[in-house]
This record gives sequence, C-alpha cells and structure tokens, in this order.
Amino acid sequence: MLTVIWPTHSSQMTKTKYIFVTGGVTSSLGKGIIAASLAKLLQSRGFSVTIQKFDPYINIDPGTLNPYEHGECYVTDDGAETDLDLGHYERFLNIPTSQSNNVTTGKIYNNVIQKERAGDFLGKTVQVIPHITDEIKSNFYKLGETGLYDFIITEIGGCVGDIESLPFIEAVRQTRFELGSDHVVSIHLTLIPYLKAAGELKTKPTQHSVKELLEAGIQPDILVCRSEYELNNEIRRKLALFCNVQIDHVIESLDAETIYDVPILMLKEKLDLRVLDKFNIRSKEEPNIASWKEYLVRLKNPTSIVKIGLVGKYIELKDAYKSIIESFIHAGAVKDCKVEIVWIQSEDIQDDNCLELLSDLNGILVAPGFGERGIDGKISAIKIAREHSIPFFGICLGMQCAVVEFARNVLNLNGASSTEIGNSPLHPVIDIMEEQKNIKKMGGTMRLGAYTCLLEQDSLANKVYEQHEISERHRHRYEFNNDYLSRFKEAGMIASGINKETGLVEIMELKNHPWFIATQFHPELKSTVINPHPLFVAFVDAALKHKKNQ
Ligand code: GLN
Repeated sequence: MLTVIWPTHSSQMTKTKYIFVTGGVTSSLGKGIIAASLAKLLQSRGFSVTIQKFDPYINIDPGTLNPYEHGECYVTDDGAETDLDLGHYERFLNIPTSQSNNVTTGKIYNNVIQKERAGDFLGKTVQVIPHITDEIKSNFYKLGETGLYDFIITEIGGCVGDIESLPFIEAVRQTRFELGSDHVVSIHLTLIPYLKAAGELKTKPTQHSVKELLEAGIQPDILVCRSEYELNNEIRRKLALFCNVQIDHVIESLDAETIYDVPILMLKEKLDLRVLDKFNIRSKEEPNIASWKEYLVRLKNPTSIVKIGLVGKYIELKDAYKSIIESFIHAGAVKDCKVEIVWIQSEDIQDDNCLELLSDLNGILVAPGFGERGIDGKISAIKIAREHSIPFFGICLGMQCAVVEFARNVLNLNGASSTEIGNSPLHPVIDIMEEQKNIKKMGGTMRLGAYTCLLEQDSLANKVYEQHEISERHRHRYEFNNDYLSRFKEAGMIASGINKETGLVEIMELKNHPWFIATQFHPELKSTVINPHPLFVAFVDAALKHKKNQ
C-alpha cells in the first residue's frame, strides 16, 4: 500500500475520501463503468477502493423486479439482491461487495419509517431534509467507517434533474459541505452529442445539465464526457468555461470497443490523476495495470471461436444475462478464444426444430429463470445436449430443467417435474425447499448469498475446481429432491456437489458425457477479470474440443 500524505483532519471518518459520480443528459451513459474504471486505476496505484450504488427507485432492492425491467439481479456473498452495476464493480476490482454497496430510496425510507415507529424522532415532524438526507448520508459513510477503504466511490443512479434523485443530490451537497472539498470530489458524466447536419459536437446539453447540478448546490470538479468523436481543444475550452471546471478536468470518454478498455482510456485522459490532484494526494507516475493490459491483449487476439447457445426466456434484453456474458468474455480470454453467444429464445424451441437449432452449437448453456414460460424448450435443448454429447452447462433453473429432463427421458418417470412448474407433479424431482414452504412475502426471502459445498472426489466438478470445498452464491426457492438421489446415481447422473450442513444438492453432472455440469448456484456471479470462473473456463475448453470433433 502506497504511503499517502493525507491532509490533516480531525475525525477518523474523513480520512476516507469520497468520490461521487452523477449523470446528466441521458441515462445509460455507463456511470457504473466509469466508476469501476476509476476505482481500478486507484486500486492499481495501491489504494483500497470500493464502489457503492445509490438507486433512486422505491423498491427496497431489485429482487422483485422482472429482468425485462431492470436486467440481471446481482447477488452478493452476504445475500443482497442488487443492481447489476455491482457485478461490474466486482469484475473490475476483484473484491466482493455487500449489502452496504447498494442502497435504494425504498431502503432509505424504510429505515427512516422504522425509526419513526420506534420513537427515535419523538416530538418531531419527520421530513426529507434533514431526516431522509441524514439517512442517505449515514449510508454514504457506512463503508467508509469500516476504515478499510481509502476511497469510496458513490454512483448516484438516474439523471440529475430527476424528481426521484433530488434527496440524493441534496445529500451529496451536504456531504461536500460537511467534509469539505479536500474530502469530496464530484464527477459528472454527460453526453456530447454529434449533430450530423451541423457536423458538430454539441456542448449545450452538458451546460444545462451542469446548471441543474449548480442549482442543487453542487459544482462538479470533473466532467467526464461521453462522445462518439474526439473532443478538440475548442470544445474542451467551451465546456470548461461554461461549466466552471478547469480545462484539464474535462475528460473525454470515447465509445470503447469493450467495457474493459475504459480503464485504459481513462488512464490516458488522466482521470485518476485529476482526482488525486483534487485531494492533494501524490502518487507514483504510473499505476500497476500490466495484468489488465495483458488480459486485453488476449481478449482482442483470439485464435479460435466457439459458438455457445444461450437458452433463456429473457434474451430480448441481454442485460438479463449480464454476468453470464461477462464470464464467457473472461473465460474466452483465458483460452485465446472468442465466445460467440447464440441467443436462443426457449419458447422458440419445439420438438421439430430443436435439432436444427442446436446441433451445430459447440456448447449449450441453459440459463437461470423463474416460472413456467419457456420450460419445455429448455428441457428439449438439454435432451439434445445429452443425447448428442454437446457440452452442457445448466445454471440454477437450468440445473433444475436438466434434472427434470433426465427423470423423464432416462429414468422414465412419467409426470416428473418441478413443483414450480407442474401442478403437484407425480414425481416432484425438483421441490420447494422446506424453509420456503411457509414464506408469503416475496422480497428478499429466497435462499440468497454464499454457501459452501463439498465436491465429490474424482468428479468432473472436482477436477475443474481443483479443490474439495467451494463457496458459491445462490438465489432460488426450489431444490433437488433427495428422495430420488439414488435412482439418478444408478442411471449415471450424480450429485457431485453437496452442501454438507443441509444435504442440499448443488451440482449435478452426467457420467457418460464429455462435459455436462448443472449447478444450483450461480457461478457467473463470481467470475472476474483477474479470476475467471473455472467452470466457465472448463466449459469453453470443452466446447473447443467438441468443435474439433464436430
Ligand atoms: N426458479 C428457480 C428457483 O426458484 C430457479 C431460480 C434461478 O434460476 N435463479 O429455485
């Protein structure tokens, strides 16, 4: 860890520096990637950094949202259901996030209302300012107070000017006022659109967005400007002048080939150094980012390609499978191979077209999901993978479908199903977990977070992980029904991973198949650039081998 000359300050908490990232002009500019890239650069300079996301919507967490609405729900080790940006934070930084890294308006109001009911504000009118903003601030500081971090980067979801985000913006203003500008830096991410007819980049939307921030009492220190074209000096000067920022604090963020290029682009634009300047922190000239660059070289120079079919029912919104996509990118880089995902809507798979749809693929992944829609297509896809020795990877619902397929077509258990999809099936090979039976409330009540699992010696899973005990993250209510375990085993589908406390089956694999692994947990939530997930790496490897024999 680098020796830093901190400006002297009285309280311990303010030793931690706070960086806020707000967005303007439009949503979807990639605040999460900018935050993660800055964090990566600071981390590469030897600082400890974490990133937290504050979302202005009223749901307590995104756990109850349809994936079409919000993309994937990312799950942390400690069982928080969170925004998918936390996945980017972990993939870039290679450190776990937690419950405290994602806070919504719903969570803030819930806390305040509970305090009000407990009598904490007796005699007082409870108001947005100061009570809601105080609650937001105490959540801003929570991770800082652990003393573990030099920098806390806080991403504020949505756009400046949204009604919903006003209390968060006000809390940022107060934080800046209370801790002082030595301890708080504000970065505003905007868009510089290019008008084809005029042949020009336009700064006006950014000027307006900054004005909006200024009205809320926040002068951004740094502007990060998304643009399709380079910002020339004149544009930079104009932005600096109208937005009150120094010209070298106008940072260009060009559209990148991959999200993993962004830290390097930000390094070139000196975003990390500008932030450190603002805090009066001196650092070595170059961050240690060699392994990241190495990864980029591999990523961009694949020597082969594999086609993996991703069978799911939310495929129209790719963000619903964000972590799976990124895990394939990491694994592909390890194998110098480009993984081309072939998106297959499970509802489109019918008995008469499945062979044609799937048999050319080098591997098939059946994705997580909920409910009955598209289940038959998933089961048909698994049958093809099993019978045609195509490498198969099932995740969560994908594992449950693999169990149902095997029960129906190999064990000949007519009426085998999951109790989630069939009405009291004759053979409930996948059943609701005992502790889930009496749960009525939907929010935050699944089996969530990291649990350990023991791997069967000499199993494929054991070989892939090269260890006996693993820990993986979960999000489900249904499980393999152990009453059927011996019948599966006898017929060649074994439980190669089991939770030793509960006996819950975590991994099923096929014996007489080149590569067939199905997991109850979500390995995609733990793949990072530095630590690609072994199951994804091995699956890509199996797909490469299968391709050679095809
Ligand atoms: N719907 C299944 C369950 O609740 C699988 C969940 C998932 O795929 N995340 O058990």
